[in-house]
Amino acid sequence: MSTPGRIACDAPTSEGRRLPDGPWATGTCWLYCRRSNVTVAWIGPVVSSGAQAPLYGCAMCIAELDHMVWQYCAARDRA
Ligand SMILES: [Zn+2]
Repeated sequence: MSTPGRIACDAPTSEGRRLPDGPWATGTCWLYCRRSNVTVAWIGPVVSSGAQAPLYGCAMCIAELDHMVWQYCAARDRA
């Protein structure tokens, strides 16, 4: 049974972290850099204020997001 608000963190694979398999397309990065006309991948749905949209990010921003997620998981595992 899962705890509300508690998100499962899969253990790192032996390959370590990796970028999404894609598909990659040209578009706008919805993450930190907000650049247009860059190569982006869909990384999942995002819900904001009750509205859902597809979330796209460039490789650089996905790597940064990935780092933050793993920091969260590591801190949670230490708690
Ligand atoms: Zn970006």
